[in-house]
Amino acid sequence: MEYTLWVDGEVIDSSDGVGPLEFLTGHGNIISGLEREMIGMKLDESKEVQVAPAEAYGEYDLDAFMDMPRSDFPEDLDLEQGLELNMTDEEGHGHYARVENVTADSARLNFNHPLAGKELKFRVKVVGLRGPTDEELDHGHAHTGGEHQH
Ligand code: ZN
Repeated sequence: MEYTLWVDGEVIDSSDGVGPLEFLTGHGNIISGLEREMIGMKLDESKEVQVAPAEAYGEYDLDAFMDMPRSDFPEDLDLEQGLELNMTDEEGHGHYARVENVTADSARLNFNHPLAGKELKFRVKVVGLRGPTDEELDHGHAHTGGEHQH
């Protein structure tokens, strides 16, 4: 599909220039609120879809903050407000975090996704339709142009 994404009236993402996005339906490849609206669309059909925060990147969670002592960060890290980090938990899962503010001995991290609490507006156009291969069904994602992306 070709798509354009607006948040708060501004285009923040689009397939222009990078080419259409291929995805496998029913496997959570794209956000649920958009996928639901696209089911049944035909080739060359286009549509505008509004997606509420709960079906996009979640509601803004006021509890998703954590204070961490500066000593827990690498010494050479330039801790400042707005810095974006990729934190790894004990189980090895990556979590996006943004530094909310910094004091003399700690930093407050905000684990909300940058688009949490935002309503998304998409314009989508179906530019190709095909059945999935067995391998794609097995992997749960589309293999675009023969390239294997995970
Ligand atoms: Zn694969």
